[in-house]
Amino acid sequence: MKSQFSITFFGVRGSYPVPGREARRYGGNTSSLLLEIAGQPVILDAGTGIIQAGHYLSGRLQPGRAIHIFLTHLHIDHIMGLPFFAPMFDPQAEIVLHFPGIEGVRSQEALEALFLPPYSPITLQGIKARLRFQPLAPGAMGPVLLESGIEVAHALHDSHPRLGVLIYRVSFDGRRLVFATDVESPGGFDPDIRDFIAGADLLVHDSQYVEEEYSGGVRPRKGYGHSTVAMAVHNASVCGVRRLYLFHYDPKYSDAMLEEMLAQARLAFPKTYLAREGKTIKIRR
Ligand SMILES: [Zn+2]
Ligand SMILES: [Zn+2]
Repeated sequence: MKSQFSITFFGVRGSYPVPGREARRYGGNTSSLLLEIAGQPVILDAGTGIIQAGHYLSGRLQPGRAIHIFLTHLHIDHIMGLPFFAPMFDPQAEIVLHFPGIEGVRSQEALEALFLPPYSPITLQGIKARLRFQPLAPGAMGPVLLESGIEVAHALHDSHPRLGVLIYRVSFDGRRLVFATDVESPGGFDPDIRDFIAGADLLVHDSQYVEEEYSGGVRPRKGYGHSTVAMAVHNASVCGVRRLYLFHYDPKYSDAMLEEMLAQARLAFPKTYLAREGKTIKIRR
C-alpha cells in the first residue's frame, strides 16, 4: 500500500461516449483515469468515465484525504461526468478540482455551470462535498505537491483548438506517468515537451486517428488537434518511455479497428498497449 502506484482506465474514448456492441471490449466512456498512489486517489480528467470511478471510490475514501482531480482542458468530453460523480454529494468527501487557469477565460464559472439550471436540476448548494477550485497557471507554476511525496507537474501544449491542453506528469517514488491527451504533433513534440516526458515509465497518449483519416479522405482531420497512432508511437520512442498506452479513440472506431491500430503501432514500438476501460496497471520500479 505504501509504495502502491496504479492506474485504472475508467474512460478511454474521445469526443463523445459510445455505448454499444462495437465498443464493448475497450469501452465507450470518455476520458477519465484513476490513479491510486499510496492510498491517495488522483483523477485525471472528468469525462463520463469518472462516474464509474466515483462509484468505485464511494466507501473507500479515507478521512482527511482529498480526491484530487486534474483536468487537461474543459472540452465537454473531458468534463461531462462531473455532475454525476458520486463523491460530490458525500458530505464526508473533500475534492480539489485543478484546471487550466487561462487569463480572460471564465473556467471556474464554466465548470460551476455544469451543476446549475438549465443544464442540471442541482445547484451549487446541492454539492455536499467540500469542493475547492484550483486554477493552474500554465507555465508559471511548479508541480502540485500532494501527500506521500506525490508530485503532479503540468506543461501546456498549445496545438489543441483553441486554448491548448495541459499534459500532466505524475511522479512518485522514482516512478513517472505522463498523460498527454488531445495533442497534435505532426513533426513530433517540441524539445521542452520532449524533456517533460523523457523517460516516463508509462505514457498515455492521444491516438484519435489512423493516418488515412488524418491526412486523406473527404474531410482530413489535420488541424483538429488530435494525434494519429504514428504520432503517439513516434513521441513514445523519441521520449524514451517504457510503455505506451493508446488512448482517446475516435468514437467511430470499432474494437476491431483499435486492434488493427495496435498491431501497426507494435511494429514500431513493441511495448504499445490499448487503454481499456476497467483495466488496472501497476507501475513498478
Ligand atoms: Zn477530447
Ligand atoms: Zn479536446
